[in-house]
Amino acid sequence: MSNAATTFATDTELLTAIAPATGGREIFDPATGELVGRAPEHSTADLEAAVIAAREAQPGWATLSHAERSAALNAAADAVDANAEALAVLLSREQGKPLNGPNARFEVGACSAWLRTTAGFELEPEILVDDEGGKAEMHYRPLGVVGAIGPWNWPMMISVWQLAPALRMGNTVVLKPSEYTPLSVLALVKVINSVLPENVLHVISGGRDVGEALSSHADIDKIMFTGSTATGKAIIRSSADTVKRLTMELGGNDAGIVLPDADAQGIAEDLFWGAFINTGQTCAALKRLYVHEDIYEEVCAALTDVASQMPMGVGLDEANVLGPLQNKAQYDIVAELVQAATDSGARVLTGANPVAGQPGFFYPTTLIADIENDNPLVAQEQFGPALPIIKYSSVDEAVAMANGLEVGLGASVWSSDIEAAREVAARIQAGTVWINKHGAVDPRVPFGGAKQSGYGLEFGVAGLKHLGQPQVISY
Ligand code: NAD
Repeated sequence: MSNAATTFATDTELLTAIAPATGGREIFDPATGELVGRAPEHSTADLEAAVIAAREAQPGWATLSHAERSAALNAAADAVDANAEALAVLLSREQGKPLNGPNARFEVGACSAWLRTTAGFELEPEILVDDEGGKAEMHYRPLGVVGAIGPWNWPMMISVWQLAPALRMGNTVVLKPSEYTPLSVLALVKVINSVLPENVLHVISGGRDVGEALSSHADIDKIMFTGSTATGKAIIRSSADTVKRLTMELGGNDAGIVLPDADAQGIAEDLFWGAFINTGQTCAALKRLYVHEDIYEEVCAALTDVASQMPMGVGLDEANVLGPLQNKAQYDIVAELVQAATDSGARVLTGANPVAGQPGFFYPTTLIADIENDNPLVAQEQFGPALPIIKYSSVDEAVAMANGLEVGLGASVWSSDIEAAREVAARIQAGTVWINKHGAVDPRVPFGGAKQSGYGLEFGVAGLKHLGQPQVISY
């Protein structure tokens, strides 16, 4: 079934392969303002054609064994690896993230890692009952055609998080990337489709109208959505009439709690990357840091020191590890929230004050101390390079503040005493609580939100099951 992967020597070759003959949406580099390329502007009629083709291809794909579909996913991983540098350069130019650090090359590497790990899971039927009264087995059948709608922050990796388990379970897939980063997903699919059978994986590069049409489509069986909580609610509403299965990976505003016994110097770099990975544009990044008063100044100083060593700039410059905001709307959100914080009298440890008149949506790495918990920079998801650091005096108070919002994606506890940290972790309302790290996802470990951060799990065997229709056979 698998063909040899097509290889593209450069991002320019990739762009040529996905560019429309004429017109299309112009995509600009958020670091320089230069034109990166043109993405096709697909319509709801194009979506219709993709859904029909995916529907027709699905029974044949579902007939293959798990081993055959796993082989196809492994071939897709090889294809990504063979095109890794061209993909990373294109991702960097379109999304803004630097090649180095936990950014573009890291994201492309994660794509092949997730494909391979998802290919490797075993999913045997479960024997639920086996006694003199009879037998009951649980099987997971394909759902049909899965629609996948994604955001602009990790466009390639999140597409793989959606398509890999969906394909593995015998579904076909129609992807709808963010209108801000369609080129990255079109290029990724071009590469992966060079080794997959025809029509099992489609990408429709359109706007919100196409997303709406996908989520209300009568012939789509499930929506995998990653994006904001507001859009997630709209999708829940538009999917209601067809009772679609949904996996909702929505917004977060992750809290970190530093206990008084933590080693401030020792945790500073991990705290920094927990917050500033992808220049803060990460769903499960640390977005509110609660530090005990005994070590508050020490943690503030250590974080400021780390921040001063992290260069920000154009992604293709190998020296940089932080980049621009991906778009002007997100830049404005970050700028307004930091302004609200400084207006309230909070203390700027570093950053704020962006330089006017420079190209690119660069907002300086910003650390804000002595800030109230109800300040908008704390209470809202800033999704950018600005971290508020809130002082607390009792662990009960810190836990109450961490749990005080409607979202609960991730959280972290930082301590030299793992058992003490585990006790605090158990009290936090979040889908994942990390200890002495933040945001470390793993393809073997289920991931999903609590409260309004969503529902349904991704990754691991539990994630595969969310892409199957459970069916009991009883006899
Ligand atoms: P967004 O909600 O604005 O857009 C996401 C996608 O939804 C885009 O493809 C968009 O075109 C589409 N869309 C918009 N309106 C739609 C509608 N009515 N119906 C169907 N589709 C529609 O999100 P964004 O700004 O691209 O991404 C940032 C957000 O995503 C943040 O809130 C972040 O926390 C969240 N996020 C969550 C996770 C997670 O795993 N929980 C991961 C990454 C990002």
